[in-house]
Amino acid sequence: MTYTIEGRTGPWEVVIGLEVHAQVTSQAKLFSGAATEFGAAPNSQVSFVDAGFPGMLPVINQECVAQAVRTGLGLKAEIHLWSRFDRKNYFYADLPQGYQISQFAHPIVGTGTVEITLADGSTKEIGITRLHLEQDAGKSLHDQHPSKSFIDLNRSGVALMEIVSEPDMRSPEEAGAYLTKLRQILRYLGTCDGNMDEGSMRADVNVSVRKAGEGFRTRCEVKNVNSIRFVMQAVEAEARRQIEVWEEGGTVEQETRLFDTGRGVTRSMRSKEDAHDYRYFPDPDLPPLVLEADWVEQLKASLPELPDERRARYVAMGLSPYDAHVLTLERETAAFFEAVAKGRDAKTVANWVTGDFFAALNRTGLGVEESPVSAAALGELLDLIADKTINGKIAKDVLAIMFETGERPGAIVDARGLRQVVDTGAIEAAIDRVMEANADKVAEYRSGKDKLFGFFVGQVMKAMQGKGNPALVNEVLKQKLA
Ligand code: ADP
Ligand code: MG
Repeated sequence: MTYTIEGRTGPWEVVIGLEVHAQVTSQAKLFSGAATEFGAAPNSQVSFVDAGFPGMLPVINQECVAQAVRTGLGLKAEIHLWSRFDRKNYFYADLPQGYQISQFAHPIVGTGTVEITLADGSTKEIGITRLHLEQDAGKSLHDQHPSKSFIDLNRSGVALMEIVSEPDMRSPEEAGAYLTKLRQILRYLGTCDGNMDEGSMRADVNVSVRKAGEGFRTRCEVKNVNSIRFVMQAVEAEARRQIEVWEEGGTVEQETRLFDTGRGVTRSMRSKEDAHDYRYFPDPDLPPLVLEADWVEQLKASLPELPDERRARYVAMGLSPYDAHVLTLERETAAFFEAVAKGRDAKTVANWVTGDFFAALNRTGLGVEESPVSAAALGELLDLIADKTINGKIAKDVLAIMFETGERPGAIVDARGLRQVVDTGAIEAAIDRVMEANADKVAEYRSGKDKLFGFFVGQVMKAMQGKGNPALVNEVLKQKLA
């Protein structure tokens, strides 16, 4: 079903294309050896190249190129063995060179695809148009002094990958799923940390609206949105604004807008600039970037397992597609799952990890890598169920205690006497007591009210402080009630 927004004149479809700026994970900048660490003192990571001193020469950082190629491979995209750097000229106080070195006509990576998963479990392919390398600019600080602006050049020259999608998304949900998936791929690859709150990943959101069956209408670009939630909100706000413009008889003009997160609306920033406004030309300081096919093959051979492959592997292990999706969202979660699943039944482990374990972890507000319950400890708990030391119900209580105290499950079971009762004598005694106390219900059951069986199981378990072996309790109870 197509997502639409209802206007006065009926439903409107939304068309979205995203341009994502992803900071390349690298110790040095794209064309200089200055460091890139986040949160360093202002202007402590600036070389003469980054400060735009006259006569300085940029030198390409091979690791940044490798990261772009790895990312291209992860996006199942064409790798261009020949690409070129161009100067994009504009003036800005935090751009000391007076131009940004970017790739315009010949990007390093061409078309590819990303498969997204939606809430209903369906999947969709989103086209990648291109990925190119470029320099980041510095940062103007306007809030440090009443009458002066300061400039921090630490980011100046940091390598960015601009990843441009086709206008293939049709709802805020699809835009959110695309960014989630893109970030997941980048994190698996280790090519960008994906931390949107630190500015390592930000999105320009292109939005247009149309009536069903029409071609594309004019788009507007909402610049620099820095969280997935804000991207989804910006799509809807901008689509609603455009619908109103069209319905009032106006025309949407192509322009660059900003999303006001406080008011939930977009506002105009500037009219759309064209490529010729930037007077792009090949950077004369840099030769074309020529890659060797063998080198690209080596990078390909050394790629880690990607989310789609890992998900498929988990499904082959017997997991549902949904569990496989959830467990592969973060690399840390997948590693935790695999550590527990080693030598155990994968499906059972997946149920426990995505169920009680995640629920308990969410209550602590901790990430899986900080979990007070280690993979080894959770594995021991599952072994206690498998060897029938405890039943599944008691195991849930033990897990809660493990989260609280950090104790190992074996110690908790021993100290609190939680071993399950497999002694039929003790089970029979408990059943006799329950049947005596509920003689009326026994009579009802015997006259055909089968549904009461569950009630008896509950009462017997309660009488045994939850420690009865469920299979045995069921079996003996059936005999006695018959
Ligand atoms: P520019 O370089 O001027 O920003 P591009 O052709 O690179 O233009 O497109 C930028 C982004 O806009 C791409 O992500 C693309 O998918 C998206 N886009 C293009 N046309 C539309 C449209 N009609 N509606 C929504 N998004 C669009
Ligand atoms: Mg653009």
